[in-house]
Amino acid sequence: TEARAGASGYLTIDLAALRRNYRKLSAAVAPATAGAVVKANAYGLGGEQVCKALHAQGCRDFFVAHLAEAIKLRPLLPNDTQIFVLNGLQPGAEVTCADAGIIPVLNSLEQFRRWSSAGQKLGRVLPAVLQFDTGMSRLGVPPEERSALAADLKGCASVEVLFIMSHLASADEVDNRQNAGQLLEMRKVAAEFPGVKISFANSGGVFLGDDYHGVLARPGIALYGGAPTAGRANPMEPIVRLDVAVIQTRTVPAGTRVGYGGAYMTSAEMRLATIAAGYADGLPRSLSDRGAVFYGGVRLPIVGRVSMDSITVDVTGLPEGTLSLGSLVEVLGPNQTLEDVAEAAGTISYEILTGLGHRYERQYR
Ligand code: PLP
Repeated sequence: TEARAGASGYLTIDLAALRRNYRKLSAAVAPATAGAVVKANAYGLGGEQVCKALHAQGCRDFFVAHLAEAIKLRPLLPNDTQIFVLNGLQPGAEVTCADAGIIPVLNSLEQFRRWSSAGQKLGRVLPAVLQFDTGMSRLGVPPEERSALAADLKGCASVEVLFIMSHLASADEVDNRQNAGQLLEMRKVAAEFPGVKISFANSGGVFLGDDYHGVLARPGIALYGGAPTAGRANPMEPIVRLDVAVIQTRTVPAGTRVGYGGAYMTSAEMRLATIAAGYADGLPRSLSDRGAVFYGGVRLPIVGRVSMDSITVDVTGLPEGTLSLGSLVEVLGPNQTLEDVAEAAGTISYEILTGLGHRYERQYR
């Protein structure tokens, strides 16, 4: 395995595996359907490619965080799709949002009122989703605004609410009592909006049982192969691998300092390889002296600090001369999952995935 001339590495995204993950999640929530959370360029993997692959598998509902993300995606997706903006409706964005055919997730009474006035001014019925805060205290209509919103909605002819939604704070922890608390709260919300459809589950929520599904699930990380539930075998297929090129090799004697700050010192002769991946490529600096890459199944520990564009790894475990300039080592793949990297870095799979590999050549399979 060698990099093509000049390439620093390859981020490979398996769209067939993505589609299988979507099918699996859809089956798990049936008769509800599954949308897809594709914010942050589909968790870094490519919004357009991911959405098109999911559309081919029957997905019609796509969630982003920013209006700008939605506007970029809108012309790329077929007309039978809906794009929702989770972060809500910013003041002044009403006409842009309406004209682009984007559906805002309204997170407060004030946002609802602005959307409703925009509909009146434009002489149109504007589609919307209402998000309720059921315990996460991040986004969504707060409990004290619920009844006023329900009353406003009754007399409102310019907004059509497609569904109501809420987000689970602890769905990846099956035994966390916050889940049941949020479910109870969501039932109270539903009682104030009788007959309106519900969207509730994220990836973790899909595996909490039918009560959490509503009619439309919103998985993100599980589509991309991340584990939906902490501490359990991951039922999803990995869809991404990252192979990065060796950019220099050397052999150093015992007592040699390696990397910034001279923070690592060899205790014996060591063969080193420097790899074209650093914190600017999404390998957190917290992997210094902790993380590893793999070659032919052999673990090659990171020695010294992670630099912006490179890491240096101990290749003494490989037969001499195995690696040379342009050889590709595995940063993420069959030997090292997203969760492995995240754990070594002291973070979560989401942060690794969204930060990973924006400088490498991308291959979609
Ligand atoms: N729904 C909302 C409102 C979100 O903010 C997110 C992402 O954080 C998701 C669903 C998808 O979550 P996950 O990636 O855990 O499936």
